[in-house]
Amino acid sequence: MKRIAIFGSTGSIGTTTLRIIKENPNLFSAVTLVAGKNVERLIEQIEEFKPRHVYIKEERNANMIKHMFPKLDVYTGKAGMEMISKLEDADVSVSALVGIAGLQPTWNMLKHCREVALANKEVLVTGGDLVMKRAKKYGTKLRTVDSEHSAIMQCLRGEESNKIAKILLTASGGPFFDKDITDNITPMQALNHPNWKMGPKVTIDSATMMNKGFEVIEAHHLFGVTEEQIEVVVHRQSLVHSMVQFADGTIMANIGPTDMQIPIAYALNYPTRLGNKIEPLDLFKIGSLKFEEPDLDKFKCLKLAYKAIHMGHSAQVVLNAADEVAVQAFLDGAIRFTQIPEMIDWALSNHIVRKLYTVNEILELDRAVRAECLNRI
Ligand code: NDP
Repeated sequence: MKRIAIFGSTGSIGTTTLRIIKENPNLFSAVTLVAGKNVERLIEQIEEFKPRHVYIKEERNANMIKHMFPKLDVYTGKAGMEMISKLEDADVSVSALVGIAGLQPTWNMLKHCREVALANKEVLVTGGDLVMKRAKKYGTKLRTVDSEHSAIMQCLRGEESNKIAKILLTASGGPFFDKDITDNITPMQALNHPNWKMGPKVTIDSATMMNKGFEVIEAHHLFGVTEEQIEVVVHRQSLVHSMVQFADGTIMANIGPTDMQIPIAYALNYPTRLGNKIEPLDLFKIGSLKFEEPDLDKFKCLKLAYKAIHMGHSAQVVLNAADEVAVQAFLDGAIRFTQIPEMIDWALSNHIVRKLYTVNEILELDRAVRAECLNRI
């Protein structure tokens, strides 16, 4: 029985992870649940999954939970997050907080947990090499949960990494691939992803295609390839989850249903695949698969991600911080959709690249860029 800790249990990845645990009670149990604001959902999860430890951001919510479940180990606040992410009784920790809020907890897990199932892409975007080196130093297995990177990991099983010619990273193109991007786009339209049901931040990032830029950075770190070896291929159907082209021209593709249960379960139970209740693909019904090139002039965020990649690591921290502020401002109605890339471009243009040696330095730069971006709104 594997004990699972879920950082972000009330979110989209977290609830899907719990569904897998529920369907496989002989294989998994939930030992730790970490949530932000959604106290009602966390209480339901405590009742159903009976974890040993929980975290909730606000102290008053933590007090309520302590009162309701006196035997439960309850953490809260910044110090509580530090403590719960250093616990050592999980076999796999799922890193599914959103944004840079996930960096420090994942940093801690990499020392205190044997396996980390990584959903939070901002951890590699901001932490980069430092995160990969830490996993290596402590011998911690870092398994990606992102569907594209899980697909690449599966295509690479048994292959020699020096025979990779290219990674073909597929992108759905989001809700606006076939439409004009105008000033009138509303949060509701941008949140209406054609293929995936995800949390709000990653859904807006998919609409701007910043998400794909983040994934290029992620793939570079996870698979040790240069950015030039990673090509973004728009595939509206989201059935091919990514591909690897090898030195002899062979392309290995991972094709399957559009359901996050599959990559999450693969990471939790690696290397053994789990059965599930998802309807398998019917290739005759699908008929054909289509691939297109992304338009970098239209999807300015993807172009900015490439710019940050070429600038260097600290620029990727700036990219992420400005994007987090801009996406939240768009969701709050404070800026227009077209102003998201404008704010990120402004932040990158004002940044002088420097070397970052520690997580504290990353977090300091993140705070400074956020403050500057917030001032601009
Ligand atoms: P959601 O917004 O649905 O969930 C985020 C989770 O993190 C929630 O449980 C939220 O708690 C919790 N959380 C956020 N901030 C804090 C905090 N400061 N302290 C404690 N808990 C916090 O996001 P997703 O599940 O969609 O995505 C999670 C990560 O996985 C993102 O980095 C995303 O890019 C990545 N990802 C997601 C995919 C998907 O299909 N959803 C696919 C691939 C990657 P609460 O809700 O209680 O406030």
